[in-house]
Amino acid sequence: MDLNQFIRKIPKTETHLHLEGALPWEFLEQLDPASYGNTPFFRKEKFRYVDFAQFEKILIDHALKVFRSAEDYFKVSTSIFRSALDQNIRYLETSFHAGMIEFLNIPGREILCAIHSAIPDGLEVRVFLGMSRNAYSSSLGPKLEEAVDAWDHLAGIDLHGPEELPIEEWTIPLWRKAADRGLILKAHAGEFGPASNIEFAIEKLGVKRIQHGVSACESHELMNKIAVKDVCLDMCPISNYKLRAVESWTEHPLGLFLEKGIRCTISTDDPLSFNNTLEDEYTACIEKLGLPPSKLVDVAKNGFYVADLPSNVKELFIQEIDYAWNEFSGSDSNV
Ligand SMILES: [Zn+2]
Repeated sequence: MDLNQFIRKIPKTETHLHLEGALPWEFLEQLDPASYGNTPFFRKEKFRYVDFAQFEKILIDHALKVFRSAEDYFKVSTSIFRSALDQNIRYLETSFHAGMIEFLNIPGREILCAIHSAIPDGLEVRVFLGMSRNAYSSSLGPKLEEAVDAWDHLAGIDLHGPEELPIEEWTIPLWRKAADRGLILKAHAGEFGPASNIEFAIEKLGVKRIQHGVSACESHELMNKIAVKDVCLDMCPISNYKLRAVESWTEHPLGLFLEKGIRCTISTDDPLSFNNTLEDEYTACIEKLGLPPSKLVDVAKNGFYVADLPSNVKELFIQEIDYAWNEFSGSDSNV
């Protein structure tokens, strides 16, 4: 068994995936072959974004060409979930962006329902509502409250968008209310912002699932706290490289975090923008970050450890990972 076969064989999780940012390129190609028939500059392997604003503009411009209705969410989700199963992803957490409720003028519940209806057998999916730090307008704010109060099938909430925006007054009460209802709490923090943003998300928002968390490496104290409190960092190495959250591959702190006993997972973030698959992320951990293959076992297991699944189901997936590892490590001098 070679490394690619091993990566394919282990059951995997994807726990940091923006649904609009996961739009498969084929949808654009089918919509307008003349404009989207070739690989655009931003999906080329060597391309790195100038900054977050450039990334965000390109993503929104492309996503809005396809997402027009709840039916579009259904079709796109069906395609995303099918290719997840092709890579042996068995548990997936995805967020859709609250701003789309206003852009498209569709009730958020309909979007959530469309995504849910697309879930195939064999894949467990949890859907989150993602909101920017400045999302709480007079029209959208009440809808965010309603989502947290009453939407069925909503797994949790996530804080999205540019990290330089301040945390507004509504945020802590909304996260607290979501916690009281038993929702899973996430926040994007420490991608471009300082370690203090991660600290805030843990201490004030009560988050145990940090999206990215790259800048935790700036503070030994914070790294210890993350390890002791068993906060999970849902990291996306290719996204971090392409968006310059790290200057070079070797600066990526995933290996350091694992060494410090911090629970980390790996995911793709926005495959529309980075042209990456989850298998690419696993491969990058070895080829770009220089981690030994045994660390792939750790990140894969971590994904199931934090998954919203019954413990006996988690156990089965973890056993499957161990079987694949034994087969791989015993087959030749792979280790
Ligand atoms: Zn993200």
